[in-house]
Order: sequence, then structure tokens, then C-alpha cells
Amino acid sequence: MAEGRIVKALSGFYYVENEDGIFQCRGRGNFRKRKITPLVGDRVAFEAANKTDGYVLDVYERENQLVRPPIANVEQAVLVFSTQEPDFSPLLLDKFLVHVEANEIEPVICLSKIDLLNEQKEEAMNEAEALYQSLGYTVISTSIFVDETIKMLRPYLSGRVSVFAGQSGVGKSSLLNALKPELNLATNQISKSLGRGKHTTRHVELIPVDGGYVADTPGFSSLDFEGMDVEGLTYCFPEMRKRMNDCKFRGCTHINEPKCAVKEAVEAGTVAKGRYNHYLQFAEEIKNQKRRY
Ligand code: GDP
Ligand code: ZN
Repeated sequence: MAEGRIVKALSGFYYVENEDGIFQCRGRGNFRKRKITPLVGDRVAFEAANKTDGYVLDVYERENQLVRPPIANVEQAVLVFSTQEPDFSPLLLDKFLVHVEANEIEPVICLSKIDLLNEQKEEAMNEAEALYQSLGYTVISTSIFVDETIKMLRPYLSGRVSVFAGQSGVGKSSLLNALKPELNLATNQISKSLGRGKHTTRHVELIPVDGGYVADTPGFSSLDFEGMDVEGLTYCFPEMRKRMNDCKFRGCTHINEPKCAVKEAVEAGTVAKGRYNHYLQFAEEIKNQKRRY
């Protein structure tokens, strides 16, 4: 019996990779009784029939599982946000961060297209960088036209499974191409919506990049708060997590409760007001969602 990782699933076959190569496998194991469908990213036990084919015998327990796109055991999300074209959106970044935190995935914030910066924008981006770094997040600034910035990203991809995420047009495909030119992914909205636009609905595939794997399809294509409650939401904000024992009430949601350490910190300016307002907005979204069901 051998072990490996599913890097592609297509037409009933699972492509399992390990140090001996890639094996085209059919499912044949107990996991089918447990109603588990193997996913790309799954670590599996398999039996090689020869050097190229085999059978998946078991699916190991998952660390996490993304729904759209379906992929298991994602360890890191590179959240790509362009400084402009499209404009930087702190609200959307905070939303992505919440989803990444909720799935226990390590985020790397990538501020892209820095070659387009003018002085005024540069200042705003430096402020954003300082804020997210102060929260403990890794922030990298990139331009596909500046090799050194791509080099900065490489070590983060090594030895783990990553997805790239971010709104369309921010440069995710361009970054992947810069990291691995032979990928030759279609870039820019227009060429994607022609021909290879199917890219986003196609199967997912894990591609070896810099000693790790990167999904060839953007992660977190849906950002609703399904399955999350407001208390859970507070845990997805590091600045709230850090203060949760300082509030008067256990399980404080930092909204209407008195003697709330988070609200006091917002007043004092030690918690960013913008982040707190986004939190309130997400909490509202969660409450409205509940009402609908
Ligand atoms: P995606 O939708 O996130 O995959 O974005 P794409 O990779 O398709 O890029 C969208 C557009 O932004 C394309 O026209 C790219 O050429 C352009 N682009 C991507 N990265 C950069 C960059 O670092 N600098 C500049 N100036 N343009 C970029
Ligand atoms: Zn509180």
C-alpha cells in the first residue's frame, strides 16, 4: 500500500501523486461505504497496479474542505488584491480573511499591480500594509513586471497546498503565470470569457509550484456566511480574539454589550474602526441570513 495526494479528479479517475509519480486510480475501498467522495487535495492510501495505474483504498481525514471549488486540505490562501484596476477594497479583503480564518487556512495578503501606484495610492497601500501586518498577517506587494516581487512570494508556496483568491481582474492568473510560465493560463477578463473562460467551471487541479501545490482555480468563489454565527465571526478577527477575555460578558459579541473591551479599543483607536465597521456589517449579514431560513 502506498500513500499520496489526489492532484486531479476527472471522469471517474483520481490522479494520485507521490514521490514515485502520478497514478491514475479508480476508487475501490471502504471509504465508499462511508459515503466519502474523494476530492482533489485528499491524502489517500492507494495500491499501485503498475507504474501508472492503481486503486484508491482509503481517504484520510481532512483538515478542511472548501465547497466552491471543491478541494480538501488547503493550508494557505494567497489573497490577491490589486492596488488599482480594480481598486483596493478593504471590505472585501476583510470578508476573505473571515472565510479563510473560519476554515483555519493561513492567509498571505498579496497587494498586486504595484507598478500602477501613484504617490497618493502608495500612501494608502502602505497604511493598509501596516494595519494588516499589525494584526499578524503576512503582506507581500507584487507586480508581474518586477521579478524581485515574484521572488518574495515563492518561499510561501513551498511545502504546502495553496489557493489563490480575490475578485476577478486582480491578477491571480498573471501571478501564477509569472511563478510558472509553462502554465500559460488565460489572463484578463476578455480573453477568459472567450474560449478558455471555461477555466473557472472546469475541474480543479493541483499544480506543483516551488515545492508546494497551487490550485489552478481560484478559491472562495462564494463568500456567504452560511453556517457561521456572530460569536463564530468574532473569532475570525484576530483583534477580537485577542481581547475576548477582557470583555465583561463571556461570549460578548462586541455590539451592544456594556464594558466591552473591543468597543473601548475602537474608541481609543487601538482597534481599527474600519475593521470594526466591517465586522458589524458581516454580523448584520449573518443575522439577516438566519431570518431567511
Ligand atoms: P485574474 O482575473 O485575477 O486572474 O486577473 P488576470 O491575471 O486575468 O489579470 C487581469 C488584468 O490585469 C490583465 O490584463 C493583466 O495583464 C493585468 N495585470 C495582472 N497583473 C498585473 C500587474 O502586476 N501589473 C499590471 N500593471 N497589470 C497586471
Ligand atoms: Zn466585547
